[in-house]
Amino acid sequence: MGRIGMNAKGCFLGIDFGKTNVRFAIVKDEPKLEYFTKRSYDRGSPGEMHRQIIEGIDAALEEAGYEQSSLRGIGIDVPAVVNRDSGAILWGPDWDFMAGASLTKPLAERYRVPVVADVDTVAATWGEYWAGAGKTCDRFAVLTWGTGLGAGLVIDGEVQEHPGNLFPEFGHSRVSDDEWPCMCGARGCLNAMVCGGGIARHGREAVQSGKETILRELCGGEPGTVTSPMVFEAAERGDEVANAILERVAVLLGRLCANVVLTVQPEKIVIVGGLADQCDWVLDTINRVMRESCWLLFKELTACEVVASQLGDTGGALGAICKVRRTIGQSELERKEVAK
Ligand SMILES: [Zn+2]
Repeated sequence: MGRIGMNAKGCFLGIDFGKTNVRFAIVKDEPKLEYFTKRSYDRGSPGEMHRQIIEGIDAALEEAGYEQSSLRGIGIDVPAVVNRDSGAILWGPDWDFMAGASLTKPLAERYRVPVVADVDTVAATWGEYWAGAGKTCDRFAVLTWGTGLGAGLVIDGEVQEHPGNLFPEFGHSRVSDDEWPCMCGARGCLNAMVCGGGIARHGREAVQSGKETILRELCGGEPGTVTSPMVFEAAERGDEVANAILERVAVLLGRLCANVVLTVQPEKIVIVGGLADQCDWVLDTINRVMRESCWLLFKELTACEVVASQLGDTGGALGAICKVRRTIGQSELERKEVAK
């Protein structure tokens, strides 16, 4: 018999993969973090990935004072499309190295608990549903704004997970005439215009076209090295060109939000993701453009506000935990149905 840990009662573990880091979170029954940490990871073979995940899980349990036997479920979110039944990675721009391999199966066998995995946008939406905006609102949309622009939807208290392992998508809508190539293969997608890489490209083009901007100094005269943090820094320092770039980004996002209101009439649109902490630069313009572009709003037939997430970088891991808890609850309900 194992030693009784400091925390004998059960816990759930959430794992949230970003581009270069992976976050581990532990909670009991409430969305209150008992433990949270961020580690770097290396892309490798599926076996190497599982070794790193197991190392992270074991370290998280030990540091939080839990026995392995008290683990009740594991939720994982990844920047890739996942087969929700088998946990196999189907496709993702940076996750081809895992294509076809199940992320969940080796973990379910090792820890003997339910393990679920889903794409990061769905997990972020479950996170807001459980711990963020969704606590007070059962009809809302999520925009994940960072290295890409993803989306999530909660309609009447249900997180929308579409058939075929798909999910809502707004980021690949085309709302401008620009021909910028998008990672999806199409051109002019909003995703290409407003994500971190898009903001950097606006900055690069401004320097290349000879505009008077401190971005030139920030990039050391090398337009190819302009990054989105440089654009935000320049805006902070009062640079008019950088402010105009962020205004343009906000206008495009505001038009998208108007389209979302026209389509699903959410009460709120919550911005999450790596750039969510930069929302102060864009929220006022997004809300103004959304209202001006949507007759349902300016005729006051419905109401909607765009807000920034309050969950920081914990939302994905919390969402993955919420999802595995729901899966367990669902299978218990089904067992009771069968027993009747
Ligand atoms: Zn696209």
